[in-house]
Amino acid sequence: MRHRIAVIGGGPAGLTFARVLHRHDHPVTVLERDPAPDARPPGGTLDLHERMGQLALDKAGLLAEFQALSRPEGQAMRILDADGTVLRDWQPRPGDLANPEIDRGQLRDLLLGPLDVRWGRGVTEVVPGTRDGVLVHFADGRQETFDLVVGADGAWSRVRPALSSATPHYTGITMVETSLDDVDTRHPDLARLIGDGSMAVYGVNRNLVAQRNSGGHVKVYAQFRAPLDRHTNLDRRAGLDLDDAEAVRSSLLALFDGWAAPVLDLLRHGTAFVHRPLYVLPVPHTWTHVPGVTLLGDAAHLMPPLGVGANLAMLEGAELAESVAAAPGPADLDEAVRAFEEQMWARAGRWAKITAAGLERLVSPDPTQALALFDEVQPS
Ligand SMILES: Cc1cc2nc3c(=O)[nH]c(=O)nc-3n(C[C@H](O)[C@H](O)[C@H](O)COP(=O)(O)OP(=O)(O)OC[C@H]3O[C@@H](n4cnc5c(N)ncnc54)[C@H](O)[C@@H]3O)c2cc1C
Repeated sequence: MRHRIAVIGGGPAGLTFARVLHRHDHPVTVLERDPAPDARPPGGTLDLHERMGQLALDKAGLLAEFQALSRPEGQAMRILDADGTVLRDWQPRPGDLANPEIDRGQLRDLLLGPLDVRWGRGVTEVVPGTRDGVLVHFADGRQETFDLVVGADGAWSRVRPALSSATPHYTGITMVETSLDDVDTRHPDLARLIGDGSMAVYGVNRNLVAQRNSGGHVKVYAQFRAPLDRHTNLDRRAGLDLDDAEAVRSSLLALFDGWAAPVLDLLRHGTAFVHRPLYVLPVPHTWTHVPGVTLLGDAAHLMPPLGVGANLAMLEGAELAESVAAAPGPADLDEAVRAFEEQMWARAGRWAKITAAGLERLVSPDPTQALALFDEVQPS
């Protein structure tokens, strides 16, 4: 029996779910709000773990293609103190494929492959339990019904309210992202400082991380503790227009004042600044099972960005797809989703606690906490 299945959202979770179903010859409708794959910048690099993101790609039959595209050398990690002294300089061993990096755009294109995504289909609401199944409302006024609707629509999910009243809350930590292009030719000193992978500098309640993407592109993340409305609750003299790149740059240079000049050059040469206050969902986030609707990835368990969110999202997408493809009738489908949710809640709950504790140590009053965390995760 062919269930009518829709996945809302074409991020790592939704596309992996759809691609694994496709591999099992099960039809799936992918509904994505963005008007086209390249409608907005895809974001920075992702490291895909052997037993999570890579396992999901294996289930999709895409592991060899991933290995051809990914950057094992991108696993390298260098840690400096605020004076610029190198404290750790970790390099992967030859043949180490535990956590290779891949650009998000490359991963998206790999997953898209033959999938027929309906672009520009923003969902506004999902109503379970109608006579013909689960009713999906679109921003353009259209409606459609399905047997199963999978909400893979990220942090601000429009599917989640059908299952849970939880909403993301601010962690007290903000990230500001900037980018550098052609770093090897335009900023060779910075290219050497960053190395083949990532470089991080930890200070009191703040840090700076630079990550190499492919093609000489570098993403720089400044993380610090700040009120959510730091740019609006200041008086006019100190107020900050987040669209004014030079004003944001000056405010960051003031925040990191006294740090080594080469480290601050990452901010001086950054091209544009994106404000990303870090939000999380409550932990654990569970709900009373509702037949015909479920959630995956950030929609289910938004957590701090410590290298796990996309990996979990993809693994969940692959696992749910395999269970759904193996479910012959409606009762089996419901049982498969119910069992999937139990497994997802337990695993995601553990990771949400680990990443929340990790974030506290990475943006800590005591910068040695960040170094200790690195040594625990990546013993030399
Ligand atoms: C700076 C940063 C760095 C990170 N680094 C890593 C890392 O190295 N490794 C890692 O594992 N994780 C990382 N993460 C976390 C990771 O990005 C997320 O966990 C992951 O993208 C979640 O995937 P998703 O598919 O659940 O959601 P998303 O990636 O948010 O995708 C959701 C999709 O749904 C679409 N959508 C939204 N609303 C609607 C709607 N109403 N209707 C239709 N479509 C809709 C969106 O356009 C989007 O395409 C990082 C996060 C950040 C912010």
